[in-house]
Amino acid sequence: MTSTARKHHKAKGLKPGSVRPAKELCSECGLCDTSYIHYVKEACAFINQQIPELETQSHGRARDLDNPEELYFGVHDTMMAARKIEPIAGAQWTGIVSTIAIEMLTQGKVEGVVCVQNTAEDRFQPMPVIARTPEEILAARVNKPTLSPNLSILEEVEQSGMKRLLVIGVGCQIQALRAVEKELGLEKLYVLGTPCVDNVTRAGLQKFLDTTSRSPDTVVHYEFMQDFRVHFKHEDGSTETVPFFGLNTKELKDVFAPSCMSCFDYTNALADLVVGYMGAPFGWQWIMVRNETGQELLDSAWNQLETQPVMSKGDRRNAVQQSIPAYDKGVTLPMWAAKLMGVVIERVGPKGLEYARFSIDSHFTRNYLYVKRQHPEKLEEHVPEFAKKIVGQYQLPD
Ligand code: FAD
Ligand code: SF4
Repeated sequence: MTSTARKHHKAKGLKPGSVRPAKELCSECGLCDTSYIHYVKEACAFINQQIPELETQSHGRARDLDNPEELYFGVHDTMMAARKIEPIAGAQWTGIVSTIAIEMLTQGKVEGVVCVQNTAEDRFQPMPVIARTPEEILAARVNKPTLSPNLSILEEVEQSGMKRLLVIGVGCQIQALRAVEKELGLEKLYVLGTPCVDNVTRAGLQKFLDTTSRSPDTVVHYEFMQDFRVHFKHEDGSTETVPFFGLNTKELKDVFAPSCMSCFDYTNALADLVVGYMGAPFGWQWIMVRNETGQELLDSAWNQLETQPVMSKGDRRNAVQQSIPAYDKGVTLPMWAAKLMGVVIERVGPKGLEYARFSIDSHFTRNYLYVKRQHPEKLEEHVPEFAKKIVGQYQLPD
């Protein structure tokens, strides 16, 4: 054990429900549930934004702000659209994340996988675990659309004596993980990330379901899709779609967690491999290989995937500029108008990477305004340069 590794053992994790060092901005990433709270001032994504430094540490270089694709999506070697030839039933999309995790384990490249299952009582209550069998990984498939304390297992990692580990997580969890990576005593860490945006507390999720779905209690899965609709899947297998533009923005304005309203790491800049959907055609997943370790992750499941190059169509900029004041004022369209607008936008609207840029621009402008108004003292240091450049393309209200 190194002397630094010993240091944090003196610290004690906080009790559930107690105020975290990042206060209302805390995303409950789990770090502060453990003795690694010792590092919180440097490691917390909401106290010490250090994405560029950690990009260099993780990928060997910082993102090139003059390269338009890196500016938006972060350091990467390759990007593609992909899907499982045989999708995993019940996965969020086609199950590429679960498949890679299972392959890494069964091929003996890792001894365990940090992922998040749900509790027996509540399908949306996250329960982080270190999975050691394919069944345990499969039990973690599908998004838990709630803040999840994935890093609460850090002490268990250390106690288990594991040397090769795969961690699946979203941006804020991965930022803190990268900051303490050297203290974990691992020989090899693999990081498989997903993009993440607009997450909620468990109570916030209930409010969203109650305001938006016709049958909140039977929702098993939902996603904000590229066709500008929220798709809910219900227990009986039926699908319900609600256009984004018909969402009750006034009611929902404060449903998203303050951490997510101040996050600029939508595309998980520090993961080795990122698997999402928003840069890919409908029905496909979007893959970004950030470094050699990411390539190794992708290679592990390569023969189970079909792929195609990424594409980009349309121009997002007007739609983003117009959405800024609309969101700001909490405008809600009547449902018929929302449906019509959804159809028009779907036909002429941004597709592929341009849709991903649409989503990044909309969220970064919204979040920039949020930080500027709620935490003006944090604005300068908390917003990374790449996000400032993206936001700078638009006119924002005061
Ligand atoms: P699966 O094989 O179903 O595996 C899902 C994995 O996600 C599991 O291993 C599980 O451990 C992990 N996981 C589930 N919930 C959480 C959580 N709360 N925190 C950390 N890890 C979790 N992609 C986009 O392109 N654009 C988006 O806007 C976007 N928003 C997202 C918002 C949230 C809250 C989350 C969790 C993901 C989001 N994603 C987004 C990623 C996308 O929805 C899929 O998770 C991804 O494409 C993987 O799909 P899959 O079928 O391969 O995953
Ligand atoms: Fe601690 Fe994580 Fe919350 Fe930051 S986001 S205060 S590191 S639990």
